[in-house]
Amino acid sequence: MAHHHVHQAQLQVLHLTVIMLLAIAAPAPAHADCGRDGVTINGSPDEHDEACAALGEVIGHFADGGLVIDLRVTIRFQPSVAIERDGDEAASPTSGEPRLASGFYHVARREIWMTRSTSVWAHRRRPWNLPWDRPLALSILKHEIVHAIIYQLLGADHRKLPRAWHEALAYAVQIELMDPDLRARVLAQYPHREAFSSTLHVNDIVYGIDPDSFAVAAYWAYVQGGRMAFLRRAIGFQLEMIDMDHMPP
Ligand SMILES: [Zn+2]
Repeated sequence: MAHHHVHQAQLQVLHLTVIMLLAIAAPAPAHADCGRDGVTINGSPDEHDEACAALGEVIGHFADGGLVIDLRVTIRFQPSVAIERDGDEAASPTSGEPRLASGFYHVARREIWMTRSTSVWAHRRRPWNLPWDRPLALSILKHEIVHAIIYQLLGADHRKLPRAWHEALAYAVQIELMDPDLRARVLAQYPHREAFSSTLHVNDIVYGIDPDSFAVAAYWAYVQGGRMAFLRRAIGFQLEMIDMDHMPP
């Protein structure tokens, strides 16, 4: 029955090909990961649980602040993450050089790409000059989730929010939702950094000079401004904002 076996194998190959073609042609079904429609997590069981916990925490923080959202997002944990030009403008490099990142939000795909916290590259990173550990990795995931929520809340208006503001808000909520020990260690790195004295300081130049320091100033501005009340004013464009990208050279 060798022939039959071959035939069977051929059928199986054909079957597999059809399944693969279907998988390519059809949009991925909604997985409803974390018990949420529109959420897909791509990672190990541990990463899945961590992502669901982080999503719940960030979505809950926004809901407590009066911003209820049915977030549509896919979170992919990867050995490394290279920033794409057509992704999150806030993180896109101006040159063609691919740049590695701990985390990245791809606006068009509604995807968060996260570097696995076990990656060797990640361990060389020292945000706020702190050693890489799980709480720090988790806080970066929350930062990317804030980006995803704000982009979805703003819809087509997201381009009106200057990119330094996207970063300021993501950092502010990231620090707010850190575990208290990690937050204390972050803030201790910049003991004299205060809130921005003017919203005009929320710009690409201040951000570019020292993102870690910018993050701390953004956090204090957020706290002084009434936390989510400040965030709601920012995404409601009720604060003075200058988009340095569109300023004449
Ligand atoms: Zn960011």
